Amino acid sequence: MKEQTLCVIKPNAVKDNNIGAIIKMIEDEGLIVKGLKMTELSDKKVSAFYEEHVGKPFFDGLKEFMTSGKVVGIVLEGEDAISRLRRVMGATNPEKADDGTIRKLFAANMTENAVHGSDSPQSAKREIAFYFDNFSILD
Ligand code: UDP
Ligand code: MG
Repeated sequence: MKEQTLCVIKPNAVKDNNIGAIIKMIEDEGLIVKGLKMTELSDKKVSAFYEEHVGKPFFDGLKEFMTSGKVVGIVLEGEDAISRLRRVMGATNPEKADDGTIRKLFAANMTENAVHGSDSPQSAKREIAFYFDNFSILD
């Protein structure tokens, strides 16, 4: 099924100058870039974006990291775009990520793991709306 999904290039990958390399891997997978925005996230925006993780032990570290620099939000489209992006991203923990995945190549550790990808059609819809519309009303 043709789907849209949201990828976010996280601050460590932006600082490491890997925006282009990551988008190249995604385009080589056959996914089409439909929207792209470089921005910075406030504490409030990170709490809204990662609402399912608020209160977890790693959340404060995640928030500090996600507000530490610029991020790039990218809307991607293609057949089964959600699972295909997750596959090219690799596992959350880069030590467990397959060779040739974005996280294997560009993650620094479990928190600074280079990219975000939506995990379901519902999260994709919500997350795309945040980056490309609703985020503007949060600050
Ligand atoms: N994270 C972390 N420690 C953990 C689990 C997750 O720092 O033990 C961070 C990491 O940056 C991850 C994000 O929180 O990408 C969201 O976690 P999730 O389990 O949704 O992983 P993802 O969907 O990004 O693979
Ligand atoms: Mg997730």
